Amino acid sequence: MTERLRARVAIITGGARGLGAGIATRFVAEGATVVIADRDADAARVTADAIGASHRVCDVTDRTSVERLLDETIAEHGRLDVLVANAGITGGGPFLELSDERWHAVLDTNLRGVFLCNQLAGRRFVAQGTGGTLINITSIMGARSNPNTAAYCAAKAGVISVTQSAALALAPHGVRVNAIGPGYMATDMTIAIRDDERLGQAVLGGVPLARFGTPTDVGDAAVFLASDEASFITGQVLYVDGGWLLHPNSSSNAQQAAGDTAAR
Ligand code: NDP
Repeated sequence: MTERLRARVAIITGGARGLGAGIATRFVAEGATVVIADRDADAARVTADAIGASHRVCDVTDRTSVERLLDETIAEHGRLDVLVANAGITGGGPFLELSDERWHAVLDTNLRGVFLCNQLAGRRFVAQGTGGTLINITSIMGARSNPNTAAYCAAKAGVISVTQSAALALAPHGVRVNAIGPGYMATDMTIAIRDDERLGQAVLGGVPLARFGTPTDVGDAAVFLASDEASFITGQVLYVDGGWLLHPNSSSNAQQAAGDTAAR
């Protein structure tokens, strides 16, 4: 079997669990040297040991922490080829009751964290002079509005914008920047929905392929975008959503689900 990411060094932020762990697992299988970067040191170590990756503690909202992650990775492995800016948090609540604290927390991790990773890894790609690839994890919520997840939607829409700006800034240096927009995925982030039979069925009613996505679904898309097969693709969003964005009822179902879970 061809290893499509052979000899590439890749960092996956928020890789200790969920989609990040799925991406890390697929990258290792494709021959990449993977560094799992997460704020949860113990979980990162467990996942890294299980899949044959290494791990580093990093908080993507802290510029110094991201700088250290990049410097230590390059010092250890000699180079950096791919960074997947995946770390993110959820955060819902009715629009009229959304607090400044919640707004700042969601925007800081989900948008500024992606910006920091793109800018700081981008600088190192330019200095290296050997190209590179950035993959940012946005969401279907970056393409839709929702009165119960306004901060999350704003952050994920912002991730699409940062992806496009970074793609333009870095194209002259042979660096590609793309985003993946997952739909409803089977991770801890959606546990409140999946554990509730009624809510789960309501959400799936807006998914043409009628299932929750898996970390491997997103991992497969990330492998493609990181590989040479995507060498002429930059500034794009690849939605991995089972057709959610096409379904006429998907947005109203999602608003209902977010409202119900926020009310608990
Ligand atoms: P999980 O909550 O399962 O995992 C997120 C990981 O990121 C956790 O290990 C978490 O650590 C880590 N993390 C959170 N904040 C930081 C930070 N500041 N610095 C470093 N690591 C951090 O989430 P998912 O795997 O479900 O989601 C991954 C990405 O995919 C997110 O950006 C999310 O918004 C996006 N997404 C998810 C969807 C879904 O349905 N699950 C749908 C669309 C997009 P800790 O355990 O300490 O919190």
